[in-house]
Amino acid sequence: MSVALPRRDEVAPEHTWDLSLVFADSAAWEAELSAIDTLAQQFTTLEGTLSQGAAQLLAALRMRDEIGQRLWALYTYAHQLKDSDSTNPTGQALNDRAGSFAARISAALAFVEPEILAIPEATLSGWIASEPGLQIYAYELNKLNQQRAHIRSAEVESILAQFGDITRAPYEIFGMLNDSDIVFPNINDEQGATLQLSHARYGRFLESDNRRVRHDAFKGMYSAYKPFRNTLATTLSTAVRSHVLEARLRNYSSALEAALKPNEIPLEVYHNLISTIEANLPKLHRYMAIRKKLMDLNELRMYDLYTSPVPEVPMEIPYAEAQDLMLAAFAPLGSDYAEALRESFGSRWIDVYENVGKRSGAYSGGSYGTPPYILLNYQDRLNDVFTLAHELGHSMHSFFTRKTQPFVYGNYTIFVAEVASTLNETLLTHYLLNHRDDEQLRKRLLVTQLEDVRTTIFRQTMFASFELDMHTRIEAGESLTTEGLCQRYYDLVAAYHGPAVTLDEEISWEWARIPHFYYNYYVYQYATGLSAALALSRQIINEGQPAIERYLRFLSSGSSKSSIDLLRAAGVDMTTTAPVQAAMDAFDGLLDQLEALV
Ligand SMILES: [Zn+2]
Repeated sequence: MSVALPRRDEVAPEHTWDLSLVFADSAAWEAELSAIDTLAQQFTTLEGTLSQGAAQLLAALRMRDEIGQRLWALYTYAHQLKDSDSTNPTGQALNDRAGSFAARISAALAFVEPEILAIPEATLSGWIASEPGLQIYAYELNKLNQQRAHIRSAEVESILAQFGDITRAPYEIFGMLNDSDIVFPNINDEQGATLQLSHARYGRFLESDNRRVRHDAFKGMYSAYKPFRNTLATTLSTAVRSHVLEARLRNYSSALEAALKPNEIPLEVYHNLISTIEANLPKLHRYMAIRKKLMDLNELRMYDLYTSPVPEVPMEIPYAEAQDLMLAAFAPLGSDYAEALRESFGSRWIDVYENVGKRSGAYSGGSYGTPPYILLNYQDRLNDVFTLAHELGHSMHSFFTRKTQPFVYGNYTIFVAEVASTLNETLLTHYLLNHRDDEQLRKRLLVTQLEDVRTTIFRQTMFASFELDMHTRIEAGESLTTEGLCQRYYDLVAAYHGPAVTLDEEISWEWARIPHFYYNYYVYQYATGLSAALALSRQIINEGQPAIERYLRFLSSGSSKSSIDLLRAAGVDMTTTAPVQAAMDAFDGLLDQLEALV
């Protein structure tokens, strides 16, 4: 018997998000769009006036923020309406219009930054000191000031802007090959049915319990990339060369500095991450040896790393029970946090179940001045409970930040974004390990958290190390050859995984299929984020109240200071090796617990 998915109008309203908290209906949305349009037209009359005085600058910044806030809410309503049911033509239409409207308005606001940078630094500092209204913008304006040394003459800037399209080309060429032109072979699935490999199927096949399927998927995937290794080495090398060139043209000492400095991340954060992880590789080697034993294999291969080494625990956790679990697991975070959680459940901030036309996956959304909505596709499994914990982490971060900060700091940076979400997952794991007396479940929870650390900290740091190596070589005038890339990548995989893993030669060209290598020093933030979350959750569990108070202040601080300063106030100094080492110690503790069970 098959049960069809419900239509949107068949889902109980209490399990859907209440978008009327943003706009009563689409007529109200339309009226707001016109109002913002009028405001934006008024705003363009300010062009050329920002350098006239502190009062003019303040008026412009306030109006820019009002437009920004209202535009964000307009866009939130439209895309969330579409995401809840793409078969609803209204949501689709509003979303399309919101997208092009937002692009037009952003272009109309674009004169602000260059005009501020045209004001001499001393004049700007004087205005900040003399105009009390500009005080809240002091951090934003000082951050802009720091860019002055890296902004070139108007003529050079214009040339750089015109070349922008071309410097993006390596990533676009990689994308065309990777998403369209590459042809993957067929393999036989667990039932013997012949299926063509794809990116999504590869992920699923690697999780299979059937080793033959995992092996075939791995060999098939890498055989597809093999003929393109030289082409992909050239696109990747060109991407790295363009990062290095742009850094030079903008007076940075390296591509790493060009990527980190605008976000106020000191270079030692990056270097400390790599050196601390690489000093702790014996812990990953130990995990690999335990995994090999758990899976009862003579040889542990790279294609054995994504399947669970312990059996699935059949658990049904209805949504109401998941809500109670959240309240219990996050109780250490105090009564304000608990009250906000209750409000998220009771005031319909969460869109819980799947329906026809609903977007897949999960996210935390909303905007400044709206509830921090959550989209789920909840299915009563343990994984879904963890997804709820993760998204609630983001939404509580948004909630406390937007309640406390002005609009200009009402968001948070990528560097800190995953701290609140993964901290919640850690607290949930800790709670379940201490309150459920079920050995299978305990093993499963331990493996899940160990896998998070393996894939998010170890693997992303391995990528970060490879990225640094590529850029450093180009900066030293070397070239990146296919053989050189393959050899160095293979050596890194071997060093990270240790003697318990037997490597296939195919892994030496894994770099050829990883889009993140085109992102220019991005992935290290996954590793630093989870490290900070693990370090903070240990402080909350071991230290109690003082650690909790520091953490709640962090949740309320948005982007009002640099990411490093915010985390330092919360109790983790990412410019030192301590937080990453604390995460490694937590990993070792989890290994001890797992080893005791096997
Ligand atoms: Zn997240």
